Amino acid sequence: MQRISNKSIIVSDKTMSFREKIYLPAIISGMIITFSHLFRKKTTIRYPEVKREFSAIYRGRQVLKRDDEGRERCTACGLCAVACPAEAITMMAAERKTGEENSYREEKYAAVYEINMLRCIFCGFCEEACPKEAIFLTEKLVFSDYERGNFIYGKQDLLEPVDPQNRIDVSKRETPEMLAFKQEINLRHNKK
Ligand code: SF4
Ligand code: SF4
Repeated sequence: MQRISNKSIIVSDKTMSFREKIYLPAIISGMIITFSHLFRKKTTIRYPEVKREFSAIYRGRQVLKRDDEGRERCTACGLCAVACPAEAITMMAAERKTGEENSYREEKYAAVYEINMLRCIFCGFCEEACPKEAIFLTEKLVFSDYERGNFIYGKQDLLEPVDPQNRIDVSKRETPEMLAFKQEINLRHNKK
């Protein structure tokens, strides 16, 4: 037969000893390894009853924030999309109409705002670039799914609830360093 490569494997034809033939020593040594794991510290947890502590610098899925009066902060300026290295953000701007002052803080707002979570690398550049403090990364997870389309998160997934009791706390992300950074480049907007 013609060989298709120069690789060769030497197959051992050594006859098995009695000890090897009865398999018992191999089974016992395997069981010793198995039982020794019973007394080690477990690396798994009983999720979702038990949840892991996230690292202080963990960055999960984004939230679009509202102001104290419940109005959307995002003005669809597009800076987050420009800053995004993964080109994960898309949006469509719209003009605020009379009577919508309670919904949108400024004259322009994002009628459509989408993040493709399959592209997002959770770098946080969108958060840094935002002059309105409208987008923050949170400790929330992106859930697994069978459909690629379900990883496109729209406003219905990203926008925080109007109810003040259910707002998303982003104080961990609003660190003094981050606020100083925004102030330095004149991006800080909300506390003016
Ligand atoms: S975290 Fe990074 S990759 Fe994800 S949307 Fe923001 S800028 Fe893009
Ligand atoms: S940078 Fe901020 S305000 Fe501008 S589009 Fe992005 S989230 Fe909205």
